[in-house]
Amino acid sequence: MSRRPTLSTITERTETTSGVISTTTNSAAEMEETKMQMAVRAAQLGEIQTVRFLLNGHVTANELDHEGCGLLHWAAINNKIEIIELILSHGGNVDLIGGHMRSTPLHWACYNSQIAAVICLIKNGANPAIRNMNGETPLHIAANTGNFTLIAYLLVKFDHIKDMRDNLGNSAVMRSAAQSFGLFPIRIFTKVDAHLDFTSDDTGDTALHVSMLRQNLTGAVELICAGADEDKKNKNGQTPYDLVNEKFGKHVREHVESRRVREQGSKYELMTSRWFLMQFFTASISGILIGAGLGLYYLTNFWVVLSALAIALPLLIFFLRKKRMDHFGYLPVTYICWMGMAELGLLIFDSEGLLHWSLLMAMCSIWVISASFYWLLILTDPGVMPRSKNPFNDFVEHLETKKIDRYCFTCWIPKSSNSHHCSQCDKCVDGFDHHCPWIHKCVYRKNLRFFIFFCLTNLIFDVIYVPVLIYMIAVSWGNVGFSQTLSDHGIMVLSLFFSIPHVIGAGTITYTQFSQISRHITTIEIIRNGRAHQDSDKSTSPSSTYNPWEDSPSIKTRVRNVCNLLVFDRFGGDEDGSQCETTSGSFETSESHI
Ligand SMILES: [Zn+2]
Ligand SMILES: [Zn+2]
Repeated sequence: MSRRPTLSTITERTETTSGVISTTTNSAAEMEETKMQMAVRAAQLGEIQTVRFLLNGHVTANELDHEGCGLLHWAAINNKIEIIELILSHGGNVDLIGGHMRSTPLHWACYNSQIAAVICLIKNGANPAIRNMNGETPLHIAANTGNFTLIAYLLVKFDHIKDMRDNLGNSAVMRSAAQSFGLFPIRIFTKVDAHLDFTSDDTGDTALHVSMLRQNLTGAVELICAGADEDKKNKNGQTPYDLVNEKFGKHVREHVESRRVREQGSKYELMTSRWFLMQFFTASISGILIGAGLGLYYLTNFWVVLSALAIALPLLIFFLRKKRMDHFGYLPVTYICWMGMAELGLLIFDSEGLLHWSLLMAMCSIWVISASFYWLLILTDPGVMPRSKNPFNDFVEHLETKKIDRYCFTCWIPKSSNSHHCSQCDKCVDGFDHHCPWIHKCVYRKNLRFFIFFCLTNLIFDVIYVPVLIYMIAVSWGNVGFSQTLSDHGIMVLSLFFSIPHVIGAGTITYTQFSQISRHITTIEIIRNGRAHQDSDKSTSPSSTYNPWEDSPSIKTRVRNVCNLLVFDRFGGDEDGSQCETTSGSFETSESHI
């Protein structure tokens, strides 16, 4: 492993240097050293006047200090762009070799992920294919740091370096597999068609071996889907699957197969795949249950249905716990059908005309409105950001000219402060709030209003339906007794049983959304702020916890925020409704899959 200069070593060195500067000496050789050290310190701190003065006859642009490093190395690792340009204008060699590892300034800039310095050096002709003493190119160093933007920039800009290997036979993608966890930066390497099957000289492991060994599911799936050899054996005769337990290996194969079917499968394959059948089954599960319950009820009696439910419910809960929430995308459809059935049931139940027709009409209208908002949510996608058609050129242009370094490397578009790549939908969404597993759709700035109305109408329906049902059951109970009520209208008693958890769920979601809107904050901001707070806690006081309710706005502001959204479709105080200002700070260039 190479020696990596850190900021602390630089600080120590700077302190030593200042000590040397203050010492007076008569020896000419020592005087020369002092001038070089002064220049080094000025290059580290960005004191351009001092560097300019010293370069005019006191030190040369390619002179090395007593550690064998040039001024350009120090300017590069500290991101001092003006100093880099000054040294180069005085005849500095952009590929000057220096330091213990015999590295170039580009290596040094990559050590500290100094993107501006990397761009500056490359624009001035730095050669990214030069290897250091370990045979590492700057791309290897970037892969060690795990900075996606830097890796992408080097890969996109210089196609010929993607498959260069160090003295141990490791390519940069192998380094990334060993140093980073998750989908990135492996996906960037697969996008530029890097060779994935190089083996390490000492172990014979490929990048896939390393990913499997580290149980990096998304990384391993990405490598296999991009064509990495699943059967390649290392020096111990093990394939990548031999390095993990059977369960993890099965998990990887399932993900690979489901992605292959979704991306390349025929319609027949798609419709008979496990993934699709699972979707279909979960979509229709409540319909099947209601249908089976009704059939059983009319064929037998209430108690048989209740016993069947007592057996079915634990099984259902077990099944739901095993499966991911994104399989429930179609549940609202069945819920909306159920609302209709509830309405119909109420009409049949109410043969004596206890309920006023206007109440039944109101419930019917709410049902229609709720269904309309659901379909508006499902069928429209106004906040999805289109993928780049010319990804590499756009990326380089954005980075070099507009200095945009927050980027989505799946869609290859810049990330704004309030956009987010949803891993479930595999899309970048502007004004992201959260991914709703119940409707299997992202909720974001431009469909937030539909979502709120959908939740609200659900809740209003329940709030009317549950008391009406209780009233009807109570009246029937009073008239004909409990057992006769069960015998005549048992299905409505069961309906009440199912409505209560729903009213709690719909109430909680609606309350949370209203509360967030009134405070002009999105779900993802709460999550991000909570994480940032946790990180800062680690260095300060671990006992204090993040409180999202602090700095609560006044009631007047809250009411105004809610009205702005519901009436004028404006989020918070923004005037045109097209943008929402966020309170999020700066985040690393990474995909936070929530
Ligand atoms: Zn994206
Ligand atoms: Zn989503």
